[in-house]
Amino acid sequence: MKNAHQPHVWWGYHRQHGWVVFDRSWPGNKYGRDGMIALVQCADWRVFEDSYRAWQEAILGQSSDYQYAPEYIERLPTYDERRLAENHLRHLQQEYERRHDTLRKQLTEQRRVRFLRELGIKADPPLRRVPRVPRTATCWRCSRDLDNAVDPECGQCEWIVCPNCGACGCGYGYSGYRAFGNWEL
Ligand SMILES: [Zn+2]
Ligand SMILES: [Zn+2]
Repeated sequence: MKNAHQPHVWWGYHRQHGWVVFDRSWPGNKYGRDGMIALVQCADWRVFEDSYRAWQEAILGQSSDYQYAPEYIERLPTYDERRLAENHLRHLQQEYERRHDTLRKQLTEQRRVRFLRELGIKADPPLRRVPRVPRTATCWRCSRDLDNAVDPECGQCEWIVCPNCGACGCGYGYSGYRAFGNWEL
């Protein structure tokens, strides 16, 4: 299975979210950006954020909010339930491959909207899907390298939106934006 060769993708089961994916190759996910990580809730393919600590505590066995997929399946009471869960997980893993780029854009959009909201700027219209000219840039806010082949552009300012901190040209030069620490490049 393709997923077996992707050690950066962690599959698990969350007490409330159900099946979740935590992809450590996503911007800000390696150690948690501002202490937060982005995960995907597979039930409706929605990106949500949780504290890195909440995930880590589960990994260290200090909480059971998150369970590693193979362990969750192992604990199911009957053979039929385990087999069903395995099949379902396999289906979700294929879906994730198919939806990956869209989900990553969803995360960028959520971060852009949050960043602009903090500045009191209306985040509308949404991200542009197909950039006209291929180009790269560096985020003015967190210095991450940007590439419009993978990172979407803002429909308002047309700058490439940073998937790590959500900044685009709309907030450039604004004084008073929240100090941004603990990012990763
Ligand atoms: Zn940035
Ligand atoms: Zn913008």
